[in-house]
Amino acid sequence: MNVIELKSLTKNYGNARGITDVSFNVEEGEIFGFIGPNGAGKSTAIRTLLALIYPTSGSATIFGKDCIKFSPEIKKEIGYLPSEVFYYDKMKVIDLLKYSASFYKKNCDIRIKELAEIMDLDLNKKIDDLSFGNKKKVGIVQGLLHEPKLIILDEPTSGLDPLMQQKFFDLLKEENKKGATILFSSHILSEVEKLCHRVAIIKEGKLIKLEKISTLKENKHKKFKIETKLDLDNEYFNIPGITKLEVQDNIVSFIFRGNINSIMKKLSAIEITNLWIEEPDLEEIFMHYYKKED
Ligand code: ADP
Repeated sequence: MNVIELKSLTKNYGNARGITDVSFNVEEGEIFGFIGPNGAGKSTAIRTLLALIYPTSGSATIFGKDCIKFSPEIKKEIGYLPSEVFYYDKMKVIDLLKYSASFYKKNCDIRIKELAEIMDLDLNKKIDDLSFGNKKKVGIVQGLLHEPKLIILDEPTSGLDPLMQQKFFDLLKEENKKGATILFSSHILSEVEKLCHRVAIIKEGKLIKLEKISTLKENKHKKFKIETKLDLDNEYFNIPGITKLEVQDNIVSFIFRGNINSIMKKLSAIEITNLWIEEPDLEEIFMHYYKKED
């Protein structure tokens, strides 16, 4: 079952581009990554899903219902962490969280305490006195306290230190194991790679790739680093399938995609002193897709 379905969703801000004709589905139980550089259109898509803004054309459903028409009903089952959080600064953290919890028809007190403990958040502090990272934690607890079926996170890790990020990811994995579907937007590929099952890559308002993380990484691209005493120039490696070619002193590195035998033949013809072949990380593959689309 699809928890989220975007159907040719388009949002223009006057004449300015927001998102154009974006379609993809998020299946129940998935951790789905929504990635692209700043300004690509991630927040626009998410805000439209949450009916905070209205689409220019196209539509979207959440839990099989139109996300605009049924927004109040749908939102009860969604936990949302916006990219920027603003609060009533004079309030104490606990009061703000209790106020948030009052919108749901269940007692969230225990869960608030548990989440605050996991995220190392002092519930008795005034929001005013919190650092940016700690305010982000308030947003995280606020988004998760009602144990939503769908968690939508817009750039959630900015401001969190690496240890907190890890705790937060573990928490999300646990929520996912308990059945929550997660939509996670980010411009940082390494974090999406760690957490998500599938990704949609968005660029300048348009979807450019929809793929399983495992497929993206699967054997398709290899990262080569070769050490040789020969004086090689770029021309020697001017063969199809090679990208990101760099020749520095006696080290040559590149990403290769294609029939591995063709590159091995090329390499066997030269004297090599050392060789490394690795799986490239998502960042490197992603940049490659970007180039292809340009
Ligand atoms: P992302 O979340 O990927 O960083 P956004 O969805 O915020 O991207 O932005 C997508 C595009 O829409 C950008 O070109 C941005 O300038 C534009 N945009 C976003 N919000 C507004 C707005 N309120 N008014 C006009 N343009 C906007």
